[in-house]
Amino acid sequence: MKVLILDNGHGKNTPGKCSPDKRILEYEWARDMVRRIAEKACLAGIHTEIVVPEESDIPLRERVRRVNALCAKYGTQNCALISVHINAAGNEGKWLNARGWTGWVAPKSSQKSKTLARLLYIEASRAGLQGNRLPSSSCYWVGNFAIVRDTKCPAVLTENLFQDNKDDVEYLVSESGKEAIATLHIDAIKKYFENN
Ligand SMILES: [Zn+2]
Repeated sequence: MKVLILDNGHGKNTPGKCSPDKRILEYEWARDMVRRIAEKACLAGIHTEIVVPEESDIPLRERVRRVNALCAKYGTQNCALISVHINAAGNEGKWLNARGWTGWVAPKSSQKSKTLARLLYIEASRAGLQGNRLPSSSCYWVGNFAIVRDTKCPAVLTENLFQDNKDDVEYLVSESGKEAIATLHIDAIKKYFENN
């Protein structure tokens, strides 16, 4: 059995993490997105586990522990983790110019993590979500994020556009935008599980 593990990141009480106009709260958006991805995964016959059912902020160490417990339960080789976020270019509550989608793996990530990140990148590009990010020749970005660094299964952190860019926020709050972002995740994960 293949198991998609979805981390919905921050909690209600995480400071910052919202759009300047407060139309987007990252924790709330990520919870909705994870639920959408999980519904599509269910239709595709992929078992899904959501790391943070709570509304509150769960420390990274605990989220890592939960993911690794799931890897032990289902077998690391059967699992893949996606941690769902929205990017921000600043933290002063101002509108800024950076736009677009990025997918991140840890510095010493496995080939399988890179494969999953590439599949996500291809689907995000197909959806026209590159924004003004420089094209990545490797099709992934490398960041020292604990949730992808310290978890045992293949793991990618997706930064789904910028919550401090006006145009990105319009997209992120729209039903069609949410559906496109959920779809890019599930299309990539289906392709990943077909071969891994
Ligand atoms: Zn985040």
